[in-house]
Amino acid sequence: MPVQVAFMQLSSCWGCHQSLLNAHLGLLGILPELEIVYWPAVVDFKHDSLEAREDSSIVVGFIEGLIRTHEDLENTKLMRKKCQIIIAFGSCACYGGIPGLSNLYKKDDLLQRKFIEAESITESRIPDQNVPPIEDYIVNVKEIIGVDIFLPGCPPTTDNIIASISYLLSLLAPDPEKKDVNKCVCEQCSLYKDECLIEKGKLCFGPITASGCDLKCPENGSPCVGCFKASSKVGDKGKSLLNLLTSIGEIDTPTGLDIQKFLALYLGLSNLEHMYFKGDLLQRLAKEPDTFSEKIISTSNGNQKVLEIKMTGNELIDNIIGLLLYILRDSPEFKFSQKTVCSTCDREVVDKVFTEIKRDYEGLPTMDTCFFEQGYVCLGPVTKAGCGTICLNKANAPCLGCYGPPENIKDAGAKFLSTYCSIAQNEPEEIAQIIKDPAGLFYRFTLPSSIFRRKRDDFKEDK
Ligand code: SF4
Ligand code: SF4
Ligand code: SF4
Repeated sequence: MPVQVAFMQLSSCWGCHQSLLNAHLGLLGILPELEIVYWPAVVDFKHDSLEAREDSSIVVGFIEGLIRTHEDLENTKLMRKKCQIIIAFGSCACYGGIPGLSNLYKKDDLLQRKFIEAESITESRIPDQNVPPIEDYIVNVKEIIGVDIFLPGCPPTTDNIIASISYLLSLLAPDPEKKDVNKCVCEQCSLYKDECLIEKGKLCFGPITASGCDLKCPENGSPCVGCFKASSKVGDKGKSLLNLLTSIGEIDTPTGLDIQKFLALYLGLSNLEHMYFKGDLLQRLAKEPDTFSEKIISTSNGNQKVLEIKMTGNELIDNIIGLLLYILRDSPEFKFSQKTVCSTCDREVVDKVFTEIKRDYEGLPTMDTCFFEQGYVCLGPVTKAGCGTICLNKANAPCLGCYGPPENIKDAGAKFLSTYCSIAQNEPEEIAQIIKDPAGLFYRFTLPSSIFRRKRDDFKEDK
């Protein structure tokens, strides 16, 4: 059955929706799987029709843009009410985007500039009829409602959008016919009686994995890695698996990798670099470990701390997953990619040191060496990988940071500035002379989600 989706446009330029439409024939593969119930930018749906829908009846809601007007605020809340999964679609929805730079000014100053002073104005008048009231500052969607998925980019590339939608559809795809969730892998395993791998100290996830595969792994002496996902009941050896896990203490690299491989297959995780999906427990563990609560369970090896998970409806399985995540969280063996644009850039880097600073329009950069080493400011080191380095390797332009920072960097602008100034050979005054608009350069896409968020003086007013 097609999945119901809604697209909402808040204050924005429509570029993210345009990027989706740019898929052209690429849309053919996914459109039959979607039932679009609201998409005013493309189809003539009425707002009333969205309001009339039952709460949580729409599976996925895409929100493009940011909250500038009161109408944006109400539409954001409406989408959360009507949709089960909310995707912040594009850098404006994820971080505030370029319009977020308006947080450097007060609302009245912005209106004055736009409607009274701008050189292109023919009739100086601030409109007050048939326009929604304007909020004092731009607020990010995530500050008003819970967001499940962040899909950044200005705009997100068409490939990224299609990959994200395809991944979400794959989560809803029907199970293979042979899969039987009422049985676990152990029930058909020839090693069960005398040769069980768990009894030999190997992490085999057969007791909690649905049966139906051709048992290639255990029959070949390799542990089950959970690719048929959760069974509804746990096999006899489930407790042995839990006990084995509580006894392993510190894990080595192969065990760490095995655990991550199991969780990725068993939970159907995305592995998509460009997208942060909070339902992807490995991403969440890497990026927001503090959002998990801990609990204590009792095992035959004594009390054991685990992370609290409610995923499968089976307490023992949830406890095993919670224990695996607990083990990984504090282990140096937890290797989660937090790659930056630099790591996917084709330009040659020698020592990333620069002796001069240039504005973008000065000279013509070469296509083969790092922008930094040529003197240009490039935000690749503090920007999340995933865009395909289109600016750097196709347009011969430095990265402006539109994919936002990887989640292990709290404030891309501050991080960049501290790195940049520490390696610059120039005096601070000289740097300040050349970089005329530091906020626009270092916080171009992320100001409302940065630490200071808006003009500093105004913090005093709203405490
Ligand atoms: S735990 Fe693994 S090896 Fe043991 S019976 Fe189950 S599937 Fe077979
Ligand atoms: S700083 Fe920019 S040009 Fe240099 S490697 Fe990183 S992304 Fe590429
Ligand atoms: S290179 Fe930087 S600015 Fe360009 S698309 Fe990628 S993240 Fe955005």
